[in-house]
Formats: sequence, structure tokens, C-alpha cells
Amino acid sequence: MSRQRFDAMTESQKRERVGVEEKGRRSELFGNNVFNKERMLQYLTKDALESVQGAIFSGSKIDRKIADQVAEAMKTWAIEMGATHYTHWFQPLTGATAEKHDAFFDLMSDGRALEKFGGGQLVQQEPDASSFPSGGIRNTFEARGYTAWDPTSPAFVYDTTLCIPTIFVSYTGEALDNKAPLLRALNAIDEAATAVAKYFDKTVVKVNATLGWEQEYFLVDKALAHSRSDISLTGRTLVGHSAAKGQQLDDHYFGVIPLRAINFMKELELECMRLGIPVKTRHNEVAPNQFELAPVFEEANLAVDHNLLLMDVMDRIADRHNLKVLFHEKPFAGINGSGKHNNWSLATDTGVNLLSPGSTPMKNLQFLTFFINTIKAVDTYEELLRSSIASASNDHRLGANEAPPAILSIFVGKQLGNVLDELEGVSKGKLSPEEKTELKLNVVGKIPEILLDNTDRNRTSPFAFTGNKFEMRGVGSKTNCAKPMTILNTIVAKQLREFKKEVDALVDKKSLKKDEAVFNVLREYIKTSKRIRFDGDGYSEDWQKEAERRKLSNNKTTPAALQVLTSKQSLELFASMGVMSEKEVTARQEVELEAYILHIQIEGRVLNELVYSHIIPSVIEYQNILIKNVLGLKEIYGAAHRKLTDGQSGIIEQIAEHITELKKQVDAMTDARRKANKLTDTQKKAFAYSDDVKPYFEKIRMHCDKLEMLVDNRYWPLVKYRELLSIK
Ligand code: ADP
Ligand code: MG
Repeated sequence: MSRQRFDAMTESQKRERVGVEEKGRRSELFGNNVFNKERMLQYLTKDALESVQGAIFSGSKIDRKIADQVAEAMKTWAIEMGATHYTHWFQPLTGATAEKHDAFFDLMSDGRALEKFGGGQLVQQEPDASSFPSGGIRNTFEARGYTAWDPTSPAFVYDTTLCIPTIFVSYTGEALDNKAPLLRALNAIDEAATAVAKYFDKTVVKVNATLGWEQEYFLVDKALAHSRSDISLTGRTLVGHSAAKGQQLDDHYFGVIPLRAINFMKELELECMRLGIPVKTRHNEVAPNQFELAPVFEEANLAVDHNLLLMDVMDRIADRHNLKVLFHEKPFAGINGSGKHNNWSLATDTGVNLLSPGSTPMKNLQFLTFFINTIKAVDTYEELLRSSIASASNDHRLGANEAPPAILSIFVGKQLGNVLDELEGVSKGKLSPEEKTELKLNVVGKIPEILLDNTDRNRTSPFAFTGNKFEMRGVGSKTNCAKPMTILNTIVAKQLREFKKEVDALVDKKSLKKDEAVFNVLREYIKTSKRIRFDGDGYSEDWQKEAERRKLSNNKTTPAALQVLTSKQSLELFASMGVMSEKEVTARQEVELEAYILHIQIEGRVLNELVYSHIIPSVIEYQNILIKNVLGLKEIYGAAHRKLTDGQSGIIEQIAEHITELKKQVDAMTDARRKANKLTDTQKKAFAYSDDVKPYFEKIRMHCDKLEMLVDNRYWPLVKYRELLSIK
């Protein structure tokens, strides 16, 4: 009999709740551990402050002398905060964050000790990072990469370490991380959106992309999670029969938060406050043990850093509360998975949300401009946007249990749909005074009031307009938001650049007024991007067929979804927007495919081990008890035993049949893996894993789950769903 499950259950039931003390106002805690503007005012000279602010606002360079001053100030502040070490905090392509800590402590030549941290160490570091994936960018002879300070995201003290957000690039200048391309994309959208925003307001100097993510996650008792190798090694359950009661009653959604969870959340939120992560909302999600946390939105680069930091903080604090956070998109079959909705918009330095309808027709024309250009961009690059959220784990979620499907479409709501329909009828060329008045009064002028009662939100649309922002819902809970944000901002930037060219051409060559030209171009965009708009049920078979007719992509697996990255159109886009070179894109594709292969490979191995080393031995143990029972009855009753042992014999046979089938399937899977491993082409290998290896998982699972129902509870080796999903 397997002890592990029962030991873990005993441990989890004996838990004392870890209390949390909440002292003082959160607003007073906010940003205490961050080297933010307040601290800079306090610790920096005026010159240094201006230089850093300039770098944040316009990307201007910080010279070495100033960097020395900033480093000195950061060091003084950080040591006062109790820091002993510093680290360049970066985002290698593994998707997580990385850090290598160095002590401030140093020895002088005469042996005296001191605390040292200069501009050199602040601005650039060379981690020995040759083991991070680079997709072939770093050959062994040039295996070096360096990290470089990103002054737009403030340094912070976490535990006893001063963390400095950085980009990670190779010595030849190629991005080896997720942050560098994001910063380039944000630069591109700033340039393109500012140029267009100037049509409406000449004083606009800068446009920031804004991001508000909503992080979903599961909480499981630590001992229970660690007792299952599938959860601890792959982040999800590879086998496990559904609990009799799952989420059918919807009684978890927005329900009272379990005490252990709320204590965890409280401590987490306090830590977030100190780190300047503006968390605001917390609630239960639909599935049992599933929760969500959302912040106030921020500038996109900062929001991405904050989400990554949050995930790390969550891991550590959960551990203190004897919990494990599952960020996997589909940790449990049959109940909802977890996503990370990315709410996105554009904001000017003058404080205007460009995707928010305004109070005058002119402001609304500005709104429509950005709104329609976004639709057009997503229409043109729908497949590329889909590729940005592709991962082995998210493949399980897209299209299942209330998650958006793999087909990208946009929901705009009925009322805005009507506005677009009307705009489609705008005359070509010059507009008569009557038409202009009509448009301004009855079409463009009507937007603010209709949006207020635009309540029919379609919760499963992959890309939905929700009043003053777009919400990208296919993003996985584990995904680094930098990936979808890089693509989204790049494609919208490209689109806005095209738009400006077209409008300017109409003004210059056809001598149209600016607003006439805008109407003319938008009209064509509405016409040509119609196929991406869809307000209906994304799960229906009808939509699958309709989407195919509309030639929308429907890439259900990661290897299929990633192909578009290196298409001619994509490469041209990245290059023209200065976001990634061909070499960088190819490397990224390679890294993502590799990650996919490894993921499925590990799952296959774990499944193999679960079946051979845990499940089969356990069910045989139980089967032997039945056999003993049947033999015993036979001994007592002789030939008459048959009528008494029918049930037992039936179960013995059922178990035997499942074992036979399991062995067959697991061996076949191992075979398929072996074949896949022989392939040298990464693309082909990834497809082999998705098409030839992965399909066995479901078949194997089916037999395991049937056995779970057949076997005496005391003999089942793995913590069951009901036990895992019962945090109090
Ligand atoms: P829900 O989508 O659950 O209905 P809300 O509409 O309140 O929730 O907002 C969800 C998220 O959208 C929050 O994180 C919020 O900060 C973010 N958000 C709101 N406005 C913007 C904006 N202009 N840009 C980016 N994110 C935004
Ligand atoms: Mg949402």
C-alpha cells in the first residue's frame, strides 16, 4: 500500500493556519521598497534626477558620470533598506526571471573591507549565462551575453537584494530575452501612435501602451502537491478522475474566500504594496481552489515586470503558508483552466486614453481612429498574435471549458458594431457639409452614451473591446506578458504608420480635409477587416466552419501556431518596425519549439513512471486481495463458489484488462518518443511530439482514471482530485 498519499493527507490536515498581521495603511506601504521618483528626489542630485527622468521619458542616454552618481545613491538607499547584495534581474527566454546575486561587499588592496557599487556595475553585467536558451544566437565561441540596465523600470529591494531590471543581449547585439524586443515594440508604438494622435492634439509628445493583467491561479496544499510527481515536475495532473463535485454548482465563483487562501493573499498583497505592485482585486474563480488577482493597470513594460515579480513573490509566500501555487493553464482536467487576460490600451502624456470615447465628436473621431486601426492590425496579423500565446501548457486551455478558442476574433459589441456599419457608408472623397454634420451629430457624436449601456460582454471572445480598452483573453496564466505585448504593440504600430501614410496622401494629393481623409481611410479599413469581427459563440462548430470560410487561422497546437513567426510577412514586419531581426525571430522560434519538445518529453516520462512504478503495482496489490478472496471462497464452497465470486472475478478481470491496455499504450508512447528523439530538425521533432507522442496521454489517462474508480481507496497511490481541491 502506498504511504505517500496518506502521509501527505495527514500532514495537510494537521496544518495550523499561518496568520498575517495587517498594520497601517496600504497606501503608506506602497512603493517602500522601490527606488522610485520619491526616493530619487531624496537621494539624487538634480542633474542625475533629470538625466534618469529623461531616460524614462524619451529614452535618452545616461552618461557614465551620472550613472556613477545613481549607483552610489541606489547603494546608499538599498543598504539602509537592509540589502547586502545586488542583482541584474532579467527575463531569459525560459519565460521566467533570472538573477545572479553579487555582494556589495568588496576588499581593497590593503585588505580593508568596504561596500562597493559603481556606475559600471549598475549599467552592465556579464552573467555567465551560457546555459540559457539562445536558439543558436550564441555559438560556443561567442557564448557571452550581457545584461544592461533598463532605467524605465525602477530598481527595488526584495528580501536583502537590490534588484535592477535589465535587458539581456548578446555581444553582437541580439536580444536573448523577452524584455529587449518589448522595449523596441513599445518604442515603435510610441512613435507611430504619437504621430497619429497629433492629428487630434498637437501637444501630444508621447504615447504609452498600458497593460492591466488579471492573474488566475490555483492553490494546493504543499504536501499534497509534492506527493504527486506529475504536479511537482510538470505543474499539472497527468491522471486523476474528476471529483464527484467539481464546479457544476458554480458555488466557488466570487464565493467566500477560504481562510488559508485569504491569509496567503493578505501577506502577498502587503508584499506587493512594498514592491510597488499596485494589486487591487482578489476573488475566487470558477473552479474549486482557483483564484484571481488583478492590479491597477500601468505602463506596459512596468506592468510586465510587475507580473513576473508577482509570480515569484507568490511562490515564496505560498511556501510560507504551506501552499503551492499552480500557474499551469490546465492543472486539472474537466474544470476551468487559468488565464491571464491582458487589458491593453494607449495613453498620451497629456493624460488621454486613446481607446476611450470622449465628450466631443473630434475626440470620438480620435477614439474611432485608434479603435479601428487596432481591429485592422489584429485582422492583418491574427495568426501572429495567436502565436504569441502558444505554449505546451496553454494548448490544453484554448478552446476548453470557457477559455477562448484558438481562432482569433474581435468582439466589439452590438452598438459599436452599428457605428462601424454606419461609417462604412461614408461617401468616397470629399464629404458634403450635410454628411459631415450628420456624421458628427448622429454617428461619432453618439458614442459615449451608447458605450455606457454596452453591457452585453462576451466573456469568451479572444479579443474583446470592453468600454475603454481591449482585453486579450487567450494569454495563458504562465505566459510572460512581454510576448503578447511585443506582438500586439508591434502590429498596431505598423498599422498606425500605414494609416498615417494613407491619410497624409489623401490630404496632399486629393486635397481632402484631414477629417475627411480620416473618414475615408477608416471606411476602407472597416470594409477590409470585417472577417475578424465576431460576436457569437466561439465554441460552436458553426463558428469553426465559418472561421475557415473567412480564412482565419485555427492553429490548435504550439508547433503549428509558431510557424507563422518566420513567414515573409512577419519577418518584414519585425524588421520594418525595428523590433527583431530575422536572426532574432528565428532563434526565438527555435527556443519556443525546443521548450515545447522538452515539455511534452518530460510529461511522457513522468506518465511512464506513474503508470509503471505507482499505478500498476498498486492495482496489482488490490487485485491480489481479490484473488485471495476468490480462492478462499472456492476452498470453503467448492464448485458453489462461482455464484459468490462473480463480482470479485469481474473486477479482477477488469483490472487485468486495463493493465494490459496500459502497458500497450505506454510502451507505444515510449516508442513514439524514441522515434521523435531521432529527428534532428526541431520543427519536425516538435510536430512528432504533438502528433505522435501526445495523443497517447489521453488514452493512458483514461485507463488510469477507470482504475482509480475500480480500486480500493486505500490502495490508490495518488492524491485524488477531491482531496487536492479542498483548501479550507
Ligand atoms: P473585468 O475585465 O474583470 O471586468 P475590469 O474591467 O475592471 O475587470 O478591469 C480589468 C483590468 O483592466 C484591471 O487590471 C484594470 O487595471 C485594467 N484596465 C482598466 N483600464 C485600463 C486601461 N486603460 N489600460 C489597460 N488596462 C486597463
Ligand atoms: Mg477580464
